[in-house]
Amino acid sequence: MKIVRFDDHRVGVVAGEDVVDVTRWVPDHSDRWPETYMVRLVEDFDRIRPTFEAAVVSGERIPLASVRLLAPLVNPSKILAAPVNYRPHQEEMGAPGAVYAGQSIKSVAEYGVFLKPPSSLAGPGSLIELPYPDRRTDHEGELGVVIGRQGKNIPASRAMDYVFGYTCLLDITVRGQEDRTFRKGFDTFTPIGPWIVTRDEVPDPHRLGIKVWVNDDLRQDASTAGMIYDIPRLIELASYHVTLHPGDLLATGTPDGVGPIRPGDRLTVWIERVGTLTVEVAR
Ligand code: MN
Repeated sequence: MKIVRFDDHRVGVVAGEDVVDVTRWVPDHSDRWPETYMVRLVEDFDRIRPTFEAAVVSGERIPLASVRLLAPLVNPSKILAAPVNYRPHQEEMGAPGAVYAGQSIKSVAEYGVFLKPPSSLAGPGSLIELPYPDRRTDHEGELGVVIGRQGKNIPASRAMDYVFGYTCLLDITVRGQEDRTFRKGFDTFTPIGPWIVTRDEVPDPHRLGIKVWVNDDLRQDASTAGMIYDIPRLIELASYHVTLHPGDLLATGTPDGVGPIRPGDRLTVWIERVGTLTVEVAR
């Protein structure tokens, strides 16, 4: 099932080229801050799912092309991210002439995971705001994993039971020497979407093509098979650090090919079986 938010805080289920509005069956739905209903939806999904499925059969269909999609998740308790989780990306960051040339670039094994603020989320069609127009700011296309159940100290062997679903994610990053949370935490720096696809539609998340275009230029082209820590190991590590809650979002790291974005650029992330997310950089 593909779950979206759209227009004026509506929640929908995608049916082919259409969306069916299921907002009335979403517990605690309210547009008042803080919007908690998507987290509640994830937590209660096993109970809600049959209602959503029935709604898709009988409900009114609205063409997807006629709605404005929003970030499919709002106010997760946290966003956890893997800093360097693909070898070719590790190599490109420290290569001669690269941003961190000459510096030792470690990996998730040494860095651990870091936090991005939930307020950095943005959705399809959002405008990424560059806080420092004169500093290099990069796209990092990543597979986003939405956690479905509460857990602490989750062993890798059981970690996939804690996955709710997947989404395309951009980890927008100002290059420099400040802590990651600062450089990657600005408003609009975590676009996700276009929907959350539930895990049953993605049998093997470690065998997915992932591509990123800037305008018509293919910049990143890899497979999620290249992760240094796969999703179970990331969940094991993250849940050793903190308690994971339903709706928490895990950014699994970017493959190689990262590069600068500029005002007016159009960024497109495609992940096999997950979807295509397009956002623009504000002028
Ligand atoms: Mn990243």
